Amino acid sequence: MPILDTHAADLADLASRDRLRALTPRRGLDFSSNDYLGLATSPRLRDAVAEALARGVPLGSGGSRLLRGNDPEHDVLEAEAAAFFGCESSLWFSSGFAANSALLSTLPQRGDLIVHDELVHASAHEGMRIGRAERASARHSDPQAFDDAITDWRARGGTGRVWIAFESLYSMDGDRAPISELAQVAARHEAFLLIDEAHATGVFGPQGRGLASELDGAENVITLRTCGKAMGCEGALVCAPTVVRDFIVNRGRGFIFSTAPSPLMASAVRAALRILADEPERRERLHALAAYAGTVLSPHGAVASGSQILPLILGDDATTMRVAGAVQAAGFDVRGIRPPTVPAGTSRLRISITLNIGEAEIDGLAAVIGKAL
Ligand code: PMP
Repeated sequence: MPILDTHAADLADLASRDRLRALTPRRGLDFSSNDYLGLATSPRLRDAVAEALARGVPLGSGGSRLLRGNDPEHDVLEAEAAAFFGCESSLWFSSGFAANSALLSTLPQRGDLIVHDELVHASAHEGMRIGRAERASARHSDPQAFDDAITDWRARGGTGRVWIAFESLYSMDGDRAPISELAQVAARHEAFLLIDEAHATGVFGPQGRGLASELDGAENVITLRTCGKAMGCEGALVCAPTVVRDFIVNRGRGFIFSTAPSPLMASAVRAALRILADEPERRERLHALAAYAGTVLSPHGAVASGSQILPLILGDDATTMRVAGAVQAAGFDVRGIRPPTVPAGTSRLRISITLNIGEAEIDGLAAVIGKAL
């Protein structure tokens, strides 16, 4: 039995873009992607890629960065990203998942403690699972819980380094972390901060540098900027002191033993950084749309989170999937999110606001949700 019962003729047919589109579950108005600024299809980004192709930037790297895979485009991107985010160095990974798991598995050592927010992303858990440090989960966005976990660990004889891991903007609730309070906890305990800016990058902060950009450049701060969300590309930039970057380059297995990401994509990310810097109107429009969505959708139970991610928590899985199905059938691409992606009993519609829709579409979504509920 072939794994895929596909004939050559079907494959030829599959190559037709329309058919691919029909097969790909990318239906309806975009209320679910992380393409917050609409950059994934931006003409300026496409032009930058075409220009890079024309000047000979290769599509594939052909090997690990440490062997033949390093391309000048990787180096230039990292230099520009470090300058943009205001950190000493940056290191580009092929995905946020690879970067985050590399950070959490490589930097904390045996004898160290990682205190992480209970809602950190699966990629952080992956890193901690592989790594050798002890870990403690702290109540969501509760600086005192982080502080207590560290104090307890020290009282039990812990002597290693302490790493505090959290997200600046949470992907499923759209709420912000108490960043300055967590930075104070870090200062009190001489701890390091590992801050995942996946959903804040491009959306918040001066020039879209994120919610924690003021901390960039400090010697105890390592931040992660994913490039596959508001930047419309893929990959992730780790921003860190040079000594930390060097350590990851020499010890990070996910970096060392992996083919370097596409140099052409590096050109795209460079262009995306330029767009973040000089098209602030995209952010302004997104914030206006998100505020509008908060006003229109909160009467139906959505949380006006103050960000571009608005959860509508329905609780049980069946109701969530029923409402999601009804909304999708009406042409709105809203996804139901269930455990283990979110805690048990908090199944929800995750409504994300992007520049791929406008006020009229938000009004339409509100009407459909109202009916489905
Ligand atoms: N961190 C967070 C908070 C995320 O939401 C995601 C993506 N869902 C990642 C890391 C992983 O990033 P990527 O999709 O680039 O692998």
